[in-house]
Amino acid sequence: MPADSLDSIKTVAVLGAGTMGNGIAHVFARAGFEVLLRDVEKRFLDRGIEIISKNLDREIKKGKIAEADKSAALGRIQPVTEVAALAGADFVVEAVPEQRDLKVRIWKEVDSVIRPHIIRASNTSSISITDLAAQTKRPEKFIGVHFMNPVPMMTLVEVIRGLATSDETFQAAMSLCTKLGKTPVAVNDAPGFVSNRVLMPMINEAAYAVMEGVAAPEAVDAVMKMGMNHPMGPLELADLIGLDVCVEILDVLQKGLGDPKYRACPLLRKYVAAGWLGRKSGRGFFQYETR
Ligand code: NAD
Repeated sequence: MPADSLDSIKTVAVLGAGTMGNGIAHVFARAGFEVLLRDVEKRFLDRGIEIISKNLDREIKKGKIAEADKSAALGRIQPVTEVAALAGADFVVEAVPEQRDLKVRIWKEVDSVIRPHIIRASNTSSISITDLAAQTKRPEKFIGVHFMNPVPMMTLVEVIRGLATSDETFQAAMSLCTKLGKTPVAVNDAPGFVSNRVLMPMINEAAYAVMEGVAAPEAVDAVMKMGMNHPMGPLELADLIGLDVCVEILDVLQKGLGDPKYRACPLLRKYVAAGWLGRKSGRGFFQYETR
C-alpha cells in the first residue's frame, strides 16, 4: 500500500484557525480524524475552537448530530502553536492568510518537520498551486483543496492539480474529500481556478452596471436572484466575500491571464478605498448592522 493511501491518514494538521481553518478542522474532526490545529497564538486557537463549538451546537439543534458527537469531535482537536508538534501528521492542509510569501515561509517551516511522503494541501483561493508546490521539497505531493465558506455547510471542494502533482496525490485528495462528505471537483491550476474565474467577472459586471447607472444594487441582485435562480445576488455575495478580497482576486486574474476584461471596476476600488468592504465593515453595496 502506498504510504500516502487514504487508510494511512489518521491525523491531519490544519494550519490556521481562522474562518477557513476552523471550518476545515471541524469537518475533519466530525469525520473521525485526529486534528492538530495550528495557529501562531493561543488566542487565535481559542477563538477557532469556540467557533467550532458554536457550529457543532447548530448541528445538534438541526438534529444532524447528538451531544456526544460534539464532545467526541472537540476531543479529537488538539490546538498547537509549535510547528514541531506537526511532526506526526499524515496529511497537512494550510489555511493561512492569502499572501504568497507568508504561505511559502510557512510551507518551508512545515516541510522541515513533516515526513517526506505526506501530502501537502493548500486552501488558497487564487495563488498558483504550481508555484507554491515548487517551493516545497516534494512538489509531486502538493495539491490545492479549495473548500468553500462556510466549510461545514458547503459541499464543494475544488481540487486543483499543480503541474507536478502526482496521480497518487490527486487520487488521495479526491478520496479524502469524499470521506469528509464533500463533493470534490477536479480542475487544473490556472489563475482563479474555476470558482473565481467565473464568479468574479460576474460580480465585476454587476458593479459596472451600478456604476454606469444601469440599475440600483437592489435591482441588479433582484434580476439575478429571480431571473437566473441565484440564491444570492452578485452584489450581496460580493459584500459577503469582502470587496477588498474581490479586488485582490480580480487583480490576480488580470495579472495572471493578461486580459483587460478582468480589470476591477473603478467603483469596487472606490468602495475599498473608502473602507466600504462589505459585511465585515458594515457597509458595501448594502448597509449592515455593525455588531
Ligand atoms: P483568516 O484570516 O480568517 O485566518 C487565517 C489564520 O491563519 C489566522 O487565524 C492567522 O492567525 C493564522 N496564521 C497566520 N500565520 C500563521 C502561521 N504561521 N501558522 C499558522 N497559522 C497562521 O483567513 P481565511 O479567510 O480563513 O483564509 C485562509 C485561506 O483560505 C486563504 O488562502 C484564503 O484565500 C482561503 N479561502 C478563504 C475563503 C473565505 O471565504 N474566507 C474561502 C475559500 C478560501
